[in-house]
Amino acid sequence: MSDFNLSDGEFTDFSALSDEQWRQRLEPDSYQVLRHAATERPFSHEYTDAETEGVYVCRGCGTELFRSTEKFHSHCGWPSFFDPADSDAVIEKVDDSLGVRRTEVLCATCGGHLGHVFSGEGYETPTDLRYCINGLALELREK
Ligand SMILES: [Zn+2]
Repeated sequence: MSDFNLSDGEFTDFSALSDEQWRQRLEPDSYQVLRHAATERPFSHEYTDAETEGVYVCRGCGTELFRSTEKFHSHCGWPSFFDPADSDAVIEKVDDSLGVRRTEVLCATCGGHLGHVFSGEGYETPTDLRYCINGLALELREK
């Protein structure tokens, strides 16, 4: 899917990258999601219903964000997780952009937009949280 190598071994200060540098690093679709908070079409990404074991890393910076063991079938059209792999890996921010209060989820390392988190929807998961994440913001590393 991507020939972009996240683990090129060079240290990068992701917070210092310019918009143009991000544009060059990422595929166009992932760039729009991560850097401009676009939302991919529902049910469009291969990760939506994937059950492959592994970890999902940030497509922007390679940080581990979610694990397949915290992924569940929400039927909402986007990859859904009930908990981040490490709570410090993501940051959450209030987002009123659609006139409804939502909580945006961003990568703590590179600031990339990942998706939103919703609570109290009644899913039978340990947290009753749904991290609704764009597949384009993620890269699955199989176990
Ligand atoms: Zn990142």
